[in-house]
Formats: sequence, C-alpha cells, structure tokens
Amino acid sequence: MADYDAIVVGAGLAGSTAAYCMAKAGLSVLVLERGDAAGAKNVTGGRMYAHSLEKIIPGFAEEAPVQRKVVRERISMLTGESCFTIDFGSSRFKDPASASYTVLRAEFDAWLAGKAEEAGCDVVCPAVADDLLRENGKVTGIIAGDDELTGEVVLLADGVNSLLAQKAGLKKELSPHHVAVGAKEVVELSSGVINDRFNLNDGEGLAHLFAGAPSQGLVGGGFLYTNKDSLCVGLVITVSEMAKSAARLPDMLEAFRESSPVKPYLTGGKIIEYSAHLVPEGGINMTPILSADNLLVLGDAAGFCLNLGFTVRGMDYAIGSGALAAETVIEAKEKGDFSNATLGSYKTRLENSFVMQDMNTHRRAPDFIEHTPRMFKEYPELVENILADMFTVSGPSKLMVKKALPRVFKAGLLNLAKDGFRGSRAI
Ligand SMILES: Cc1cc2nc3c(=O)[nH]c(=O)nc-3n(C[C@H](O)[C@H](O)[C@H](O)COP(=O)(O)OP(=O)(O)OC[C@H]3O[C@@H](n4cnc5c(N)ncnc54)[C@H](O)[C@@H]3O)c2cc1C
Repeated sequence: MADYDAIVVGAGLAGSTAAYCMAKAGLSVLVLERGDAAGAKNVTGGRMYAHSLEKIIPGFAEEAPVQRKVVRERISMLTGESCFTIDFGSSRFKDPASASYTVLRAEFDAWLAGKAEEAGCDVVCPAVADDLLRENGKVTGIIAGDDELTGEVVLLADGVNSLLAQKAGLKKELSPHHVAVGAKEVVELSSGVINDRFNLNDGEGLAHLFAGAPSQGLVGGGFLYTNKDSLCVGLVITVSEMAKSAARLPDMLEAFRESSPVKPYLTGGKIIEYSAHLVPEGGINMTPILSADNLLVLGDAAGFCLNLGFTVRGMDYAIGSGALAAETVIEAKEKGDFSNATLGSYKTRLENSFVMQDMNTHRRAPDFIEHTPRMFKEYPELVENILADMFTVSGPSKLMVKKALPRVFKAGLLNLAKDGFRGSRAI
C-alpha cells in the first residue's frame, strides 16, 4: 500500500490548492517543496485575480495576506521622450466576482500551504523531488534525496521548468519563444506615501503596465504594482528576444526604474528584494500531455499563463488547474483507479473550465505578440508623435487630420490594418 494517496511536487499556488482540496476530501496528501518555505522561490509581478480562489475558499481575502485590492488600472506607452497613459478607475472593481489583489508570494504561498496543512496535508520543505519512483515502469511515487516516498498519484506542480514532466516524457524542453524572463524589485515605501503618490485610499491598489521604451524594442514590457508599504517594479522580456540582443536584463530594469515616468514614484524608496523567474508565454502551443497513468501536470508546469500586454495572468490559472486536478484525483480515489483511463478526465475538466477556454480564446496571442515587433517601437512612437502634434503649439494650427495622416502613412496603413485585424483575433 502506498504511503499517500497523492504526492504533490511544489507548494506554489497550483500545488497547495490541489493539496488543500484533496485533503479536504479526506485524501492523504504529501507536498514536497524545494524552497526553505512555501513561496520562498516564487515570483510574480503582483496581481492575482481572485475568482478562482474565491470559489475554493469563499471570502479568502479577509484572512489571507493580500496586499491591496486593485481599484485603478494604468497602461502607459513610453518612448524615450514621452509617456502616454490610460488611467482607469471604476466602481466595478469593487465587485467581489471580479476583484483582484496585489500579493507578495513569500507570504501568500506560505498562507495557502498553511491552509493545506490545516486541512491535513504533510508539507515538507525544503525537500527536492529529484525523480519519479517507478516499479515495472509504473509511477509509484517520488525519489527525494535518499528517500523513496510512495503515492497512488503524483501531481507535478513544480513550475514552468517542470523537469519531472520532461523526464516523464509529458513535456518538451522549453522553447525560448515560449518563455519570457521576468526580473522584479520590491521597493519599500510607507503606505501613506504610496496612497498620496497614486491617489489611493488605505487598502486600495493600482496595477500599471508599460509598453515601448522599457523593453528597448524587444518583445516585452514593464510593470509596477502597489503593495501595502512597497512597490513591485519589473520587466518581462521573451527569452528568444533577449538572446538576440546585447542588452542585459538587470541594466534594462535599472534604466526602467530610473526613467522619468517611473522614478518619481520610487523617490525615497529602498530596494529590499530582487528576484528573477521564467514566465510561460507560449499559451496553448506549449500545453504538455496533461495526464498519464498515476501522473498529472498543473499550473505553470502545464504552461497555464497568459500575457496579453494589458494583463498578465498565471496565478488564477494555477489555482483553477490545481482545483480541477484535485477533483480528478478525488474521483480516481473513489473508483480506486489512478490509471489514465480515469485521470484523463482532468483534460476534459480543464477544457470545460476557464483555464483551457482562455488558452483557446487567446491561442493566437503568443504568435501575434512575438511577430508584431512594431507594437514595441513603431506604434508607441506613432502615438507619441500624434499626441505631441496635438498638444504642442508653436505657430499656426493645422487640422488634426492633416497632422495625423502623414504619421499614419509613415507607419504604413497596410501594417496598421493587418496588425489591427490580427490583434483583434488574438487579444
Ligand atoms: C515576473 C513575473 C510576473 C508575473 N506577473 C503575474 C501577475 O501579475 N499575475 C499573475 O496572475 N501571474 C503573474 N505571473 C505568473 C505567475 O506568477 C505564475 O503563473 C504562477 O506563479 C504559477 O504558479 P505555480 O504554482 O504553477 O508555479 P510556481 O509558483 O512556480 O510554483 C512551483 C513550485 O514548485 C517548487 N518546485 C519546483 N521544482 C521542485 C522540485 N523538484 N521539488 C520540490 N519542489 C519543486 C518551486 O520551488 C515552487 O514553489 C508572473 C510571473 C513572473 C515570473
């Protein structure tokens, strides 16, 4: 008989959610986490859409260490000289069904892993799952150092690299076109200063994404999120783009931090943390084989993440897929069958949920973003030029259309029409 019903590799959001749901249903669950604590190694920009966790732990934000509830959205296009910003605030953000919160993973993941422990899971950290344990070819558990731990099913929630899914032949080696590298700094500032600088009340937060100059023409962008008493500032750039550029990400981040649209927000702040991590960005094109006999793949390990330029989402998919993996294992336990005949229903569950439906809806987005470099240089410059024409007066005025049209023609009407059409089908 196996030591556990389920062994979960990774106490990120996917792993801890799955563990929590399985333990609540009475299954015996072991979670192995290689970090010193859950969340110690995990990075996010900062904003989690609450809907998926809300369904599992209603009202979770009352007790979880969330930072601020996002009530303002900003998107800026930067060129070296100008900054064009959309600033959107709405009472609709107060609706609990669509709420989102800034979070710091070290504390948030520790809280969620704690919930799994409270529900009865054994959570062991630091513990690295080195390999899958097999008997006559069948997965029977995990090898961790000198230990062999047996479980009826192993859930691979080990993040974007998922070496174990690769070893199991479920996932190919990562393509540099399918992953971005993100670097982030946490800058300490008092909550009063943050409230004043961003026009927020206590508990209210802002999500600010940047396109154009921060990525220095490469496919990517910048972000700034407000926490209670710190700001997260960072960049996410596609790995294949970094590889063809001489630029170094830490230098790009410094240039972004020091740029005139960002620097004033950070004045007087102290950098208290630096982290870097890969982000899956291949969408549905990087979905691995999701299940096999005694094995499931979830969260970033399954590539469930979307970067649409105006929003980055991976955390709600990690939680959503964790819950569906748990549902599948609970069914397998009831049937006493952990073969792929039963575990295969995980894929159907995902397809019927927002997780795969979103991956499908935005299946063209990764390709569109990667192959439309104009979005990262020419189009921000076009917007800059049109707005500069609008707002600068140095002599006789011209009709706006006479100012704007030459700019539009220079960018290429055909390019604009083509990119607009492709973008509308992708984003
Ligand atoms: C810079 C950046 C910005 C982002 N911004 C956002 C955002 O604003 N909003 C959003 O929703 N998403 C964002 N994301 C994506 C989001 O962070 C991920 O989608 C999410 O963390 C995935 O959760 P996960 O549990 O699947 O994986 P992870 O959080 O990576 O957790 C995997 C866990 O497995 C552990 N592990 C790995 N291998 C082993 C092993 N062999 N043995 C034991 N443990 C192991 C790791 O230590 C880790 O704890 C961002 C990501 C980055 C990097």
